[in-house]
Amino acid sequence: MIVVMRTGSTEEDVRRIEEHLHERGLNAQLNQGVERTVLGVLGEIYEDLKDELELMQGVGEVFRISKPYKLASREFKNEDTVVHIGKDRVPIGGGHFTVFAGPCAVESEEQTVTTAIAVKKAGANVLRGGAFKPRSSPYSFRGLFEDGLKILKTASEESGLPIITEVMSPRDVELVGRYADVLQIGARNMQNFSLLDEVGLTDIPVMVKRGMSATYEDWILAAEYVMASGNQQVILTERGIRTFETYTRNTLDLNAIPAVRSLSHLPIVADPSHGTGKWHMVTPLAMAAAAVGADGLIIEVHPNPDVARCDGAQSLTFENFAALMDSVTAIRATMNGPQGRPDASGL
Ligand code: PEP
Ligand code: MN
Repeated sequence: MIVVMRTGSTEEDVRRIEEHLHERGLNAQLNQGVERTVLGVLGEIYEDLKDELELMQGVGEVFRISKPYKLASREFKNEDTVVHIGKDRVPIGGGHFTVFAGPCAVESEEQTVTTAIAVKKAGANVLRGGAFKPRSSPYSFRGLFEDGLKILKTASEESGLPIITEVMSPRDVELVGRYADVLQIGARNMQNFSLLDEVGLTDIPVMVKRGMSATYEDWILAAEYVMASGNQQVILTERGIRTFETYTRNTLDLNAIPAVRSLSHLPIVADPSHGTGKWHMVTPLAMAAAAVGADGLIIEVHPNPDVARCDGAQSLTFENFAALMDSVTAIRATMNGPQGRPDASGL
């Protein structure tokens, strides 16, 4: 349920509503927008609540949110969310286009530092790299764990880029959170609700990758878990879904970008590396994702993809990554919608 405050309502009016809700076992999330102040009511809504709230001082309008997710919905918050990453507060969303790039897995200091410097030079904004890797087989390379996080830190210092890295288990959130500027929730963990709760207790931005069989609703509800737990800095990532096609690793669902933009105010990123599984398809799909309005890209890059310990087939060389950046910049320069995005009127 949404409570829209009247213009001229006071902080005291808002406080009184919050108290009314708390006394009834409900929670409220305040969104002080540019145009309006809105309270999202969270919890089990009962029959008379709408009437009760409508009678309270300062209240303009009360309505139910039609979607199962609330805080993540456009109904609750109409303006795009801008998430700020790292100490330099690199923005993503609301017209800020941000590129995350780096190896699938951190393998060595040399590999990670050289990649960080190369992707920074080509225009990337955030360094990616997995230290805890979710692998289909327990016998595959599963990452360097804390040593990998230390290498990421060094690479971040050397390149000036903030870090995104995956956290796989609630018990590792504290450790990974000491190093990461963005906590990545992998596709396989999108519905690990205890993990979502736990990252929601931090103040570190969280990237929620779409599960390989998740609907838009499942996926936005995963973001809602993080937000309901207290962390509003959430980024959504389309990374391809399982379809009947076997040539590609996954099918990058470009529909998701405009669809999710209309449903949610959160920034949305495309991952054409996992979305295709083939390096030669990454640049074309990155261009397409930019053209349909993605707020950013996450791209796997390796100094020598042929010997990568993870996802070499979809990793770009430094040269190919620089070419991708040029192509994506060219596409974005042709876009004339609001804030350099396709026209989003009708949202
Ligand atoms: C990754 O980013 O390397 C990764 C494992 O991605 P996903 O969770 O989307 O498969
Ligand atoms: Mn990978």
